[in-house]
Amino acid sequence: MKSYSNLWSEVFANPLKWFSSFVIPLMNISEEDLLNNFRVLFMDAWENIYQCQMLRKQARKGFETRLDACLNKPEAQERIKELRIVLKAMIEIPLLDKAGHQIPETAQSMIPRIEEIISESKPRIASWCGYGETYYFESEQPENDFLKEILSHTAQAVAEMFYSVGGDESVDGPGFEKIGICPNCQIIFEKKRKDQEYCSTRCQQTMAVRRVREKQKKIL
Ligand SMILES: [Zn+2]
Repeated sequence: MKSYSNLWSEVFANPLKWFSSFVIPLMNISEEDLLNNFRVLFMDAWENIYQCQMLRKQARKGFETRLDACLNKPEAQERIKELRIVLKAMIEIPLLDKAGHQIPETAQSMIPRIEEIISESKPRIASWCGYGETYYFESEQPENDFLKEILSHTAQAVAEMFYSVGGDESVDGPGFEKIGICPNCQIIFEKKRKDQEYCSTRCQQTMAVRRVREKQKKIL
């Protein structure tokens, strides 16, 4: 159905927007009442990214119905937890690696799973009459697994953020300039400036105080 795949076309047209509306908040929602938090978050993110007003109401209903069918299954909670772990690893691995930090084992152990997800969800990319790149997806049937669809398309958007390829050369995706992991609280955040290192001034100050104390300790 057209209204379903439109969301994912919007996501691929602007992966950073999906990243800030869905992925970052997903990393930070509370595990208490996870299913309901996930539902609210997904629908808010969808509202934020979905631009076509005309189809909005009708499409929203379609999404809600499919989402609820998945969230009502007994394994839903575990699957959302997995979704979070996979996406977190996909962000930590490139960012920590680039910064020369050690990659946590939890993230490393997810690599085969990430590769599997990416390889099965690759969207077909094609140029259309010189109007730029267009993404096509296999049409999804309403009874299909919606959580799987969310995971695979979101994973693809995250990959786009960190592993863009330009021509024959591999170049860094925009994620390196836009996304950070706070060295103090380890939260994943969207940078306001390219050189922003900490998630907040609070964390920056905490680290500055800690550094001063460590220096003083050494002197004493
Ligand atoms: Zn922080």
